Amino acid sequence: NGPRKPLIAGNWKCNLNHLEAIALVQKIAFALPEKYFEKVDVTVIPPFTDIRSVQTIVDGDKLLLTYGAQDVSEHDSGAYTGEISGAFLAKLGCTYAVVGHSERRTLHGESNETVLAKTKAALKHGLTPIVCVGEGLDVREAGEHVAYNIAQVKASLAGLNAAEIAKVVVAYEPVWAIGTGRVASASDAQQVCAAVRGALAELADQATADAVRVLYGGSVNAKNVGEIVGQTDVDGALVGGASLKSDEFAQLSAIA
Ligand code: PEP
Repeated sequence: NGPRKPLIAGNWKCNLNHLEAIALVQKIAFALPEKYFEKVDVTVIPPFTDIRSVQTIVDGDKLLLTYGAQDVSEHDSGAYTGEISGAFLAKLGCTYAVVGHSERRTLHGESNETVLAKTKAALKHGLTPIVCVGEGLDVREAGEHVAYNIAQVKASLAGLNAAEIAKVVVAYEPVWAIGTGRVASASDAQQVCAAVRGALAELADQATADAVRVLYGGSVNAKNVGEIVGQTDVDGALVGGASLKSDEFAQLSAIA
């Protein structure tokens, strides 16, 4: 991965209340010695309602672990009932905001335009957007996955300048691999992550693209993470199910 420090991000999805969140973060911290953070960035992405509780543990115990949010509003403030602004997340010490997760794209109808607006909102408030892309099974079976992901990256980051693109993380998450136990092969992950980097180079320039972290996500666990993250263009993992188990998540982070 050259100069790119791997990132392991644990997406808790709609799991764990704030008390359970405290318990999990404490267990992760206990299982992750400080020296791990020299070679890998580790972050947890809890539900919004857990963020304050996670913050108190991270700050109080001076943990090197960071945290983020699973979504961010495209709006700063105003009459947008139910929305959470990037300003609020930054104020709570969030480092990352996941944008365009396939569950948001599919279940909440988020378009590439919405994802772009949310990416801009995250950047505006100093959050690192983790911009998710990924093809469904039909696209994969038609053999169109490379072109599909390139188009999704280009549309989700359209109009950003090189300095902005440099601040983004992209996560390649094939929809057929998320929560299914069906992980992409290491070479499949490498193929698409390399193509994503190519798209970033077209949007910005090669040096910028070479500095951006491109993650793989989809049924990553402690057994398969080593081979996947060992690929040249795969700079870490976005982890769902396995991020809810403290020992496995710590193990994952140690391997990456
Ligand atoms: C995810 O939610 O981004 C994800 C990759 O989930 P899982 O690891 O459970 O497939």
